[in-house]
Amino acid sequence: MALTVLKGTVVSASAPGRLDVTEKGYLAAENGRITGVFSTLPEQYAGAAVEDWGDALILQAPADMHLHAPQYPMAGIGMDLPLLDWLNTYAFPTEADMADPDYARATYRQLARDLAATGTTRVCAFSSLHREATLILMEELERAGIAGCVGKVNMDRNGGPNLQETTEDSMAQTLQWLEECQSFRHVRPILTPRFTPSCTDALMAFLGKLAAERDLPVQSHLSENTSEVAWVAELHPDCKQYWETYAKYGLWTDRTLMAHCVWCDSRERQAMREAGVTAVHCGDSNQNLCSGVAPVRTLLDEGVKVALGTDVAGGASLSMFDATAAALRASKARRILDGWETPCLTVAEAWYLATSAGAVWFGDRPGFAPGNALHALVLDDSQLLRPHPLTAEERLERCLYRRQSGAIRAVWSGGRRIFSAR
Ligand SMILES: [Zn+2]
Repeated sequence: MALTVLKGTVVSASAPGRLDVTEKGYLAAENGRITGVFSTLPEQYAGAAVEDWGDALILQAPADMHLHAPQYPMAGIGMDLPLLDWLNTYAFPTEADMADPDYARATYRQLARDLAATGTTRVCAFSSLHREATLILMEELERAGIAGCVGKVNMDRNGGPNLQETTEDSMAQTLQWLEECQSFRHVRPILTPRFTPSCTDALMAFLGKLAAERDLPVQSHLSENTSEVAWVAELHPDCKQYWETYAKYGLWTDRTLMAHCVWCDSRERQAMREAGVTAVHCGDSNQNLCSGVAPVRTLLDEGVKVALGTDVAGGASLSMFDATAAALRASKARRILDGWETPCLTVAEAWYLATSAGAVWFGDRPGFAPGNALHALVLDDSQLLRPHPLTAEERLERCLYRRQSGAIRAVWSGGRRIFSAR
C-alpha cells in the first residue's frame, strides 16, 4: 500500500465561505485517496514516513475549469481588442498553428509542465479543432500528471480561412477522436462546441445527440460580451435567449460548463440553476477583453453552480492563484457598479470556487474529504515578512494577492507527486 503523510498547516475549503484549518496537522492518503486530516498522527500511521513541511501551508490544488490550451503561447499579448475582434485577429491565427503536430507537442509539453509548477492539477481545457493536436494535448497532460477533461473544438462556421471545418468533417473527426482517446487514464473527453456563432444547427444537434448517447460532458461559452450576445440573437431568431441555442440541442445539462456568464439576466440564470449548469467565472479575461464584470455574488445567491477558470489566453496568467485574486477583484468592481449593494466575495468563498467547486464537478467532495483523490500542494510563504502573527486565512489571502516565485514546493495530483521545487 502506498502511503502519503504530509505535515504542516493544513487548510481546506470544506464548504462555500468556510476554511478548515489544522495547524501542525497531518494530511494522509492511502493509494492516492485521502483518509483524513488529523491533529495528531493516528495510531495506524505510527512509524510512517511523515513529510514534515514545518509551518508551510498545505492546500487543495486548484482546478482550472476553463482554458484554451492552443492559446498559451500568446498569453499576455494582444489584449487591446474586444472579444470578437480579438478572436479573429489573435486567437484564431494562433490556434491554426496547431495543425503542425511538432509545434503542438512542444507547446503542450511546456503547458503541462507549467500547470504542474503553478499547482493546477485538474483542468477543463479547450484544444483546437485539430484532432491530432488534441490527442497530443491529452498525452502531454497525462504524462505530466494533470487530470481532467479536454475537448476537440467544433467549429464549422465563422472561423475564417484557416480555422474552420466542414460540418461532415467536424462530425467525423470528433467520432474518430473519441475512439482514439479511450486509453487515457486521467484525461477524459468533453464535447466542445466553441460557441454558438461557430457551430451550425446541424453540428449542434449532432453534438447534443452524442452527449446523450455517450454520457459526455459539454463545455462552451455563454453571454461573455454584449456584441456576441447580439450576434447570437441575430443568428437564432428562433431562440429568445443565448442559452436556448444550447438547450435546444441537448447541450444544457448538469454536466455542462459555460464559461463567463457575464451578461446573463435573471431568466438565463434561472435556466442555469434549473438545469444544474455550472458557470465558469474568468475575472482576469473579462477585464482584459473589456467583456464586463460577471455577477458572481448574484449567481451564488440564486443557487447557480460557479467554478473558476483562467481562460488563458483571454486570461494572461496560467496560475489559479491569480485567477482567484481576479475573481476577488471582479467582485469588488461588481460591488461598486451595483451601488455598493452586493457584498464582494470573501477569500474563503473565492478559494472554494477555485478548488472544491471544480473538484465537486469532477465527482469529489469539497475540501480534503476522505475518499477524495489527493490533489494538494505545499506553499511555503516563509520568505514574506509578517507584520504580526498571521492567521492561516490571512496567509492564504496574501498568497492569492501576491505572487511569490518559488513558493510552491511540491504538488500531488491523484495521489502522485507531479512537481517538486528544486
Ligand atoms: Zn474561453
